Amino acid sequence: MKIDNPPPPTYAFGYKTPPQPGNEINGLGVKENVRARHVFHDPGGGRLPWHGLDEFFSYISIWRIVKHILANVWQLRRQDGPVHRERREVNDLKAMTAEIKAKAKELGAELVGITPMIDEAVYDGREIPFKYAICIGLSMDREEMSTVPHERAGIEVMRAYRVISRIAIELGEAIRAMGWPAKAYGNPNSTDILHIPLAINAGLGQLGKHGSMISKEFGSNFRLAAVATDLPLATDEPVDLGVEDVCVNCRRCVLDCPPDAIFNEKQLVRGEQKWYVNFDKCIPYFVKTYGCAICIEVCPWSEPGRGEWLFDKMMGRRKNAAEAQRT
Ligand code: SF4
Ligand code: SF4
Repeated sequence: MKIDNPPPPTYAFGYKTPPQPGNEINGLGVKENVRARHVFHDPGGGRLPWHGLDEFFSYISIWRIVKHILANVWQLRRQDGPVHRERREVNDLKAMTAEIKAKAKELGAELVGITPMIDEAVYDGREIPFKYAICIGLSMDREEMSTVPHERAGIEVMRAYRVISRIAIELGEAIRAMGWPAKAYGNPNSTDILHIPLAINAGLGQLGKHGSMISKEFGSNFRLAAVATDLPLATDEPVDLGVEDVCVNCRRCVLDCPPDAIFNEKQLVRGEQKWYVNFDKCIPYFVKTYGCAICIEVCPWSEPGRGEWLFDKMMGRRKNAAEAQRT
């Protein structure tokens, strides 16, 4: 997909006194394996250093974006709730896991995976008293998303978040009706958890150079939500789709990012070498363009049908390389 004439990276918003750099808050260059901190979207309970830009983002959002956000916030009052008195005991872990995955699909999820909850996926100062995360993914309309970085794409992103929140909420309600605690996390703006590390562990895909997830089915053209629960479930494993093999040689997202925010090399972030996006360059452009999303749409994995093809190609290359080494 080609991007025609994206708006230039000049900003309508400026701080009189610049806040603490977002990259510093995100732990860029930090050797210790510390927890992530909220930086932009306000989780409540105090103003974040970048609150002003977040507020500006709300002010400039058009009504068709705002209506999805409001509907999402309204439905998320059901993200938690009373647990049924009678508990359904789990005697067959495999059968219960299959039932939960089928339920998630029936509610509309297109990707489902389960992983143990880990501290690294919980924001600093937050606690998640649940053993597992059921991670779900929902694709976005590619035609709408091909309009990035303009408002039509921003509307589609918020529509997808509203729908995937509803799926997570209803899945959580179904689990609570079985007598097991569960809480849905569907709000992209202010949750306790980082969705990407959980979804990677749950086998939904891998991290790409553009800092977003890549799945075989939808590339990066999808959104995430999760249900945290104590319901005993069998967990999935991370997958290797060959994303690393493609990203080390590809620079498409790097070249197409207007504010030049994507690092071409992995960075040390909170004790881990990983793909990382320069927050301080990305986020003002992200705000100006109702959520930008150029990098995820130009990624070759996001081209419909291309993920499967790339996966086969990468696995074929590895097999050939292994065979060549043997001979
Ligand atoms: S979302 Fe951020 S990193 Fe991605 S293309 Fe836009 S400005 Fe660049
Ligand atoms: S555009 Fe290329 S480098 Fe960027 S995430 Fe996709 S495959 Fe990786």
